[in-house]
Amino acid sequence: MNAKTLYNEIKQRLQDMQVHDPAYEARCLLEDILSIKWMDIIAGSNVDVSNEALRKCDVILDERATGKPLTRILGVREFWGLNFTLNDDTLDPRPETEILVEKALSFITEAGLLAPNILDLGTGTGCIPITLLHEKKSARATAVDLSEKALEAAMHNAKYHGVDDRLTCVQSNWCDNVQGQFDVLVSNPPYIDTSDITNLSREVKNHDPILALDGGENGVAPYEIIFSQIKNVLKPAGRAFLEIGQGQCGYIQGIAEKYRIRILNIYPDYAGIPRVVEISCGDK
Ligand code: GLN
Repeated sequence: MNAKTLYNEIKQRLQDMQVHDPAYEARCLLEDILSIKWMDIIAGSNVDVSNEALRKCDVILDERATGKPLTRILGVREFWGLNFTLNDDTLDPRPETEILVEKALSFITEAGLLAPNILDLGTGTGCIPITLLHEKKSARATAVDLSEKALEAAMHNAKYHGVDDRLTCVQSNWCDNVQGQFDVLVSNPPYIDTSDITNLSREVKNHDPILALDGGENGVAPYEIIFSQIKNVLKPAGRAFLEIGQGQCGYIQGIAEKYRIRILNIYPDYAGIPRVVEISCGDK
């Protein structure tokens, strides 16, 4: 059997399972079992598939049929075109978070920051700071997480992308153990309302770590902490870019008011949902 035939078979099985994007998942699965890139698969029409690869493919598809996300089965997720290794303590990065990265990059460029110092709170896989370091070769970043295991994944990913010499990992509850002042603060904190966790899809609630999802009452407890600590860690001319959950704008505005923090912009995601808040901690 050749790779293209197998691709069509995999896509069909994924379609039958009613996964969200069968074509994309089929591509990722094929790349994994054949250990070659999609471009090489479509360029060479006669890539042969070994029996061993076919067996591996069956095992993966059986596991996928139980509702386990493909990213969790393969242990890797593509974000900003880069591969990030996952573990049990890391959130599976979502495409919406690329918007946060894009906005932080625009700020760094427009502000003319040649060697920005970046802080990421709740780093998980490290996808946000590692992508920023990958794009900005003179930047440095500090990645914070409460979970030591998440920090292990972040350091592994930083090494894989050759940015580990510019990334410092700090185990900390938010900013408690963070030293210094930063030009840019980024965070995709847990923002699901505790009472909504049971309503999440099984792919999310059974496979993403609760620590990375549960944002307490209304899902906004982390913003209360971040906003209360921000002036200690962000330079007066610095900017923060925070991901928020659906329907949280009003709460976030209220918390910003309380701590006299200025919201400069709220950017929508690809579905038009307000998703990234840009804030300045200079006084109102
Ligand atoms: N974006 C994730 C979801 O929709 C939640 C991530 C988070 O809480 N930061 O499930």
